[in-house]
Amino acid sequence: MLSVLRLGHRVRRDKRITTHCALTSRAFGVDEMVFTGDKDESIIKSVRDVVKRWGGNFRISYSKKWKDVLFSKRNQDYKIVHLTMYGVQLLDVIPKIRKEKNLLVVVGGEKVPPEIFKEADYNVSVGLQPHSEVAALAVFFHEYFKGKELTRDFNNKKFEKGIKILPQEKGKKVIKNSF
Ligand code: SAM
Repeated sequence: MLSVLRLGHRVRRDKRITTHCALTSRAFGVDEMVFTGDKDESIIKSVRDVVKRWGGNFRISYSKKWKDVLFSKRNQDYKIVHLTMYGVQLLDVIPKIRKEKNLLVVVGGEKVPPEIFKEADYNVSVGLQPHSEVAALAVFFHEYFKGKELTRDFNNKKFEKGIKILPQEKGKKVIKNSF
């Protein structure tokens, strides 16, 4: 199981970026994302709507306290990966991380509590420059899956409902099956 914990969502400023953390996690093969900070039902609704239309089993939920999420996952035998530009380099540690069964991958918001660095089993940098939680998630899971996530079929073998893209050299081709 692969879970993402997105810390410190601010309802007025982070709507797009938290939504993009969820959509990127889903698209790159993650099973669920939990976010903390402000409770924001609109994000939960819009991500669930994407899952309904585009397939897969991705789940999104809110938790008031990051500690509840982190310690509950740890009790379920998850290893904690904290993405931070101060951590050890991704390419040095990803072979070891791939051997772990369950992961909780933590990305920060404006300010990351220092305890996260202490509690993490792995503090991992995606390059040693500041960028974005969305980019960090995408590159981390791309390396984790060695690129195989890019050809994943979200509608399973039996495509009955929703939307599916047929890749084209030019233009757009989409199949839509009605609900
Ligand atoms: N100022 C924040 C702090 O105290 O760490 C960081 C803010 S940054 C915009 C938001 C998040 O993006 C970070 O917490 C981290 O999860 C992720 N991030 C940004 N650059 C990263 C990098 N080079 N490697 C890994 N993660 C990164």
